[in-house]
Amino acid sequence: MSLAPGSTIGIIGGGQLGRMLAMAAARLGYRIIILEPQPDCPAAQVANRQIVAAYDDAAALAELAAASNVVTYEFENVPVSAAQTLAAGIPVYPPARALEVAQDRVTEKSFLNGIGIPTAEFHAVDNDEQLTAALKTFHGSGVLKTRRMGYDGKGQRVFRNMESGGFAGICEAMGNVPLILESLVPFEREISVIAARGRDGSVAAYDPAENVHREGILRSSTLPAAIRPETAAAAKDAASKILIALDYVGVIGVEFFVLADSSLLANELAPRVHNSGHWTEAACVISQFEQHIRAVAGLPLGSPARHFDCVMENLIGDDMVKVPALLAEPDLMLHLYGKAESRPGRKMGHFTRISRLS
Ligand code: AMP
Repeated sequence: MSLAPGSTIGIIGGGQLGRMLAMAAARLGYRIIILEPQPDCPAAQVANRQIVAAYDDAAALAELAAASNVVTYEFENVPVSAAQTLAAGIPVYPPARALEVAQDRVTEKSFLNGIGIPTAEFHAVDNDEQLTAALKTFHGSGVLKTRRMGYDGKGQRVFRNMESGGFAGICEAMGNVPLILESLVPFEREISVIAARGRDGSVAAYDPAENVHREGILRSSTLPAAIRPETAAAAKDAASKILIALDYVGVIGVEFFVLADSSLLANELAPRVHNSGHWTEAACVISQFEQHIRAVAGLPLGSPARHFDCVMENLIGDDMVKVPALLAEPDLMLHLYGKAESRPGRKMGHFTRISRLS
């Protein structure tokens, strides 16, 4: 049964992704409630109502469930227990299992490998001795990351050709939390696929974007990616496989490394709409945001066809000074997030420049 117009969708998380989901939902006639501890958050500015409370506040979750017809979320660190509790009484999409998989890099890579999708090699690391041993197997190179709660390159450390030994104190400096050492991937480029699965099991994947990160933060996504058609097809296939294996409903973002021989290694999945899919607003009839709302509302998925080439760039911190010049460009779609204060590293908005299909 699909949600009738006038129904209410609850969103856990009140950032820019929630804001853009709320705007897409409004166009389809739905009402939106945001659960977010920060008052007047970007999403609440365009929603019908905000419940100001922590994501794991039991009373607030019950209030959200009582007021919503379906609940979704805009970030992957929603407590799994909160999603499970809600799911006992109301449809929650994507499923809690997707959160569980995406919240721990070891679980995530094991899941991907288990369904035949290759990733960087990895070792779980809990102390300096294990780090020394793991680095040895990678000939002294690797990327050490926190297993949980990492995003935008936070909580990461890169080793290149390090002699073994001398790693005392590193695990402590990383916060004495469970870690993962990944092999250092000599990738040629990074791409991502945004894909969706509807409640009826249908799947739609957008073209892969080519992404550039700096200081761990996405700077730009370019369409088309400079990859072979077979590589693009393989990335879309992998994303579809993930959606099916998780019995997923909603939009997912899957990041890949492309190696010199065009083979792919999956890096990360995000069980939500994704920054590298913002270009879909400007270059497709159905954006990733509308696609997600359609999926969770039980509506038919829209076409993921891309009608323009494009480049999406994030506006980070002081980039806001570029806004007047950007507005003067004819084929540029600007999206600002309503954040009062710009800080270094803070995503304030993005823009997408379109051009004719190549
Ligand atoms: P992540 O938080 O896993 O998305 O990593 C942030 C960025 O660090 C990625 O987009 C890559 O540019 C780089 N990176 C992450 N893992 C690796 C790896 N195993 N080998 C090489 N570069 C990596």
